[in-house]
Amino acid sequence: MEKIAILCDFDGTVSVDDVGNTLFQTFADPELSGPVIEDWKAGRISSRECLEREAELAHATRADLDEFAGRCQLDPYFKDFIDFTRKRGMEFVIVSDGLDHYIERMLVRNGLGDIDFFANVLHIIDDKLQVSFPYYDLRECQDCGNCKTHHLEQYKRQGYYIVYIGNGLSDRCPCHYSDLVFAKGELLDFCRIADIEHVPFTNFRDIEREMVQRFVLNGADGYPDAEAL
Ligand SMILES: [Zn+2]
Repeated sequence: MEKIAILCDFDGTVSVDDVGNTLFQTFADPELSGPVIEDWKAGRISSRECLEREAELAHATRADLDEFAGRCQLDPYFKDFIDFTRKRGMEFVIVSDGLDHYIERMLVRNGLGDIDFFANVLHIIDDKLQVSFPYYDLRECQDCGNCKTHHLEQYKRQGYYIVYIGNGLSDRCPCHYSDLVFAKGELLDFCRIADIEHVPFTNFRDIEREMVQRFVLNGADGYPDAEAL
């Protein structure tokens, strides 16, 4: 039986909105943070520098951030999808270029606090914010500083079939190394332009249906048939 590992982006993929962006829009002066985001989108600064500068401009206490994360929503079908992956013995891990604080809060609030994730770390000191980058530069990559492919390679080395799910610019690199890519948003445009084989999706129900087709109904790779679903 082939082992399947699913690596998944968080902001705008697991969460409905880009929570990281909304966080800084909420807690930093938009007149100051706007130009920082423009610099990042134009490729003049890295995502790391962007996060560092946005954090410097923001003011929020832990209570503010807890309350903020409490208002943010997950994809309505995400929890069902996690049940599906667990029933099938698939590995699932979140790889995010966002911040651990809201990812953890949102998962815990939805009863999914046991999902593994890799993300940047937010430090809250009174009402000041700082970000540290434990996974930065672990993989020498020409395209990313915080390269998500680093985590992918750990699974690949153990012989996993890799499924990647994402929507944004930080998801481009790992797509080149995945066996199956689910894409929406900017990542979908990228896959089309770069001619990377992919399956478009709008929510996790789409992904579950496609994975049932590929891995369950076909009886591929020793997965039992759909009766057990
Ligand atoms: Zn990379």
